[in-house]
This record gives sequence, C-alpha cells and structure tokens, in this order.
Amino acid sequence: MKLTEKAEEILEAMWIAIEEEGKGFVEIDSLSVPADDPAYRELTSLAMVEIREGRIYYRPEGREAGRETIRRHRLAERLIMDVLDIRGDSGEDKACQFEHLLDQGVDTKLCTMLNHPSTCPHGKPIPPGDCCEAARQTGDLGVVPLTELKSGEEGDIAYLQSGDDKKMQKLMALGVLPGNRIRLLQTFPSYIFRVGFSEFAVDTAMAREIIVRK
Ligand SMILES: [Zn+2]
Ligand SMILES: [Zn+2]
Repeated sequence: MKLTEKAEEILEAMWIAIEEEGKGFVEIDSLSVPADDPAYRELTSLAMVEIREGRIYYRPEGREAGRETIRRHRLAERLIMDVLDIRGDSGEDKACQFEHLLDQGVDTKLCTMLNHPSTCPHGKPIPPGDCCEAARQTGDLGVVPLTELKSGEEGDIAYLQSGDDKKMQKLMALGVLPGNRIRLLQTFPSYIFRVGFSEFAVDTAMAREIIVRK
C-alpha cells in the first residue's frame, strides 16, 4: 500500500516527536500538513493513526510505516548529500522528493550500497532494516570510522559524515572523497592520513566523520 507524500510526511514528523523526542502524541496544529488535509483521513482509514481532540497518535501499523518512512528519508539524505554531494536546502529538498521513490527493495539496495549507515548526514539514527541485521550477523559490517583503523592500515572512503563543516569541505575539495583510497599514517597526537599523493592532518572529531570501508 503506497501512501501519499503528505501522509508519509505526517508519519515522519510523528516518528521524530514520538520515538525520538519521547512525546506521547503530536498536536496536529504543530505539523506542517494543515489539519484539513485529506492525508489525515487517508491515515485514519488505514488504521495507522488515531486522532482525538486535535492530537494524533500512532497505531502499531502507523508506527511501523513511520519507521520505514524515516529510514527511507535518511538513506535518501545519505545518497543525495554524501554520494551526489548536493547540500543545503537543495539537498534537503531533493532528499524529500527522492525518499518517496524508494519503496521496498530499493531502500535495501541503497542501504547495501551505502554499507548500512547507522546515521544520516545530520547524525540522526537511521532505523536498521533486515539488510543491516543480516550484514551485522555475517560480520560484513563494511564501514568504520577512520578512528577504528590502526596506523598503517588502509581502506576506501565510503562516505563523509558531516560535509557541512568548512574544514571537511576543504578536505573534499582536496580529494578526500568517497571511493578514494585512504591510508592512515599516524593516530597521535592527531590523525594523519594519505589520499593520493597528499597527506592530511585532522583532529579526532573529524577523523570520526570519515567513514572507511576496510
Ligand atoms: Zn538527516
Ligand atoms: Zn542495511
């Protein structure tokens, strides 16, 4: 059953408020979708939510759909912002449009391609899918932060956690990009690594944001 984009937007906002901020319900007036939008009727007729006195509550089916929707949204963000490197409002917009194209099967493929990331580029958790559990069980975790490597070890850059940072952008402009080979040379007092013919020194916080496939 494919939901409309508005309905998915509502479920997503509910996920953030209820599952991540610990609220019991959401005031409909606080949502970006206006109270008279047919998306609310869509969700109640599918028994995904309950609406009482202007407050919207999850039913179990709605909670599951919210989880999947937020998962698709954050995977889309990873793809748009990290892999395609489209950032700022434009990246945000594209991620919002793209997530609706990721139905089941496609999100699994994307998640696998991204190596089952656990957070979005904003550091918010991505609810794991079956593919993530399977990868974890077979030990095929794939990617780790640069800080998990020992000096002398190398890998391929899988993605960068926070491209918003000016220094990270500078590193990216110098070739610290997904797909490139990275070799860790030193871990103390700062992380020194080589990509191509260049050497870079970064602090621990930044080294943690460089995600490497060993
Ligand atoms: Zn995000
Ligand atoms: Zn996965």
